[in-house]
Amino acid sequence: MRFEFATATRIVFGEGTAATLPELARAFGARQLLVTGASGERAASLVSALSAETFAVPGEPTVDLVREGVRRVQETACDVVISVGGGSAIDAGKAIAAIATNGGEPFEFLEVVGKGRAIAVPPLPFIAVPTTAGTGSEVTRNAVLGSTEHGVKASLRSPMMLPRVAVIDPELTYGLPPAVTAYTGLDAMTQLIEPYVSVRANPLADALCVEGMKRVAGALRRAFHDGADRDARRDMALASLFGGLALANAGLGVVHGFAAPLGGQWKAPHGALCAALLPHSMAANVAALRARAPQYPALERYAVIARLLTSRSKATAEDGIDWVRSLCVELEVPALRAWGIAEADLPGIVEKAARASSTQANALPLTDEELLALVRAAR
Ligand SMILES: [Zn+2]
Repeated sequence: MRFEFATATRIVFGEGTAATLPELARAFGARQLLVTGASGERAASLVSALSAETFAVPGEPTVDLVREGVRRVQETACDVVISVGGGSAIDAGKAIAAIATNGGEPFEFLEVVGKGRAIAVPPLPFIAVPTTAGTGSEVTRNAVLGSTEHGVKASLRSPMMLPRVAVIDPELTYGLPPAVTAYTGLDAMTQLIEPYVSVRANPLADALCVEGMKRVAGALRRAFHDGADRDARRDMALASLFGGLALANAGLGVVHGFAAPLGGQWKAPHGALCAALLPHSMAANVAALRARAPQYPALERYAVIARLLTSRSKATAEDGIDWVRSLCVELEVPALRAWGIAEADLPGIVEKAARASSTQANALPLTDEELLALVRAAR
């Protein structure tokens, strides 16, 4: 057995830890660029405590937005970048910190669709403070950017892009509305399931996935119905963190393979796309494993997932799929068509999903016909 597991992020976890941010930030530099999400409300008290330059990210980040952020860093001579927000604000800040020192066009650095130019120079110190519990971006080494021009999403990736510090304060998520709780939480769940059945699965990531799935199984429903449930919010913040560490070291799968091109072309939250795809992807993988790769460890792993999610010792892989399907109904996850994705769009999406970096780590390769059937079922 051989595997690598890397993280260079100092993780500060717990209720009230956000209050330590100003002091943490000062240790990295005196002039800070604070990247916030669309509302910026949850970040408001931190903004006043930091007296930093602020840069708002209105939606999921694009290469244009990153270019603008880099200009702000240069104009104000910032020496540290801090993101307080959801995955969009964190990915934007992470990319701004990297391009600010490397120079050039953000698009050149994108993998798959760009030139995949390497990040050669260490980015500015970057601190991530998530206000949602889902993406795990506070501990990953990539930033997902959209290119409006090309209608795709792809990653900027380098081990050097790992945030220097992640401050994870579950209190910042107490006010999240139910829909955001559902979408981000189901993204976290996907990011615990996909690395666990990935072809790059490894024992260290496995341990995080198992522990994360146990927590998400009970907590997501509770956080959705009662946003003030402190224990549920804490478990979701941990599940998101574990998912981020796992995906950064074991890869993802076909759900994220589809989410990249879909999110590049349609204005839909990443988590909502993942949630709509998750049960159908599990079903497609399990069926394909049974049909042509029953010896793969992933098949037994789907049964382990089922036991963790349902808390039933005799649950089968199919029981796990049913459990996820009914959770998506309870959490009011819309089908893909709700975002304007039409039947005629699917063949083009399949072509892009097959090439996406996440798809390469899927439990087993799926045929184009299987991919089409999967996304059609999710629509
Ligand atoms: Zn995701």
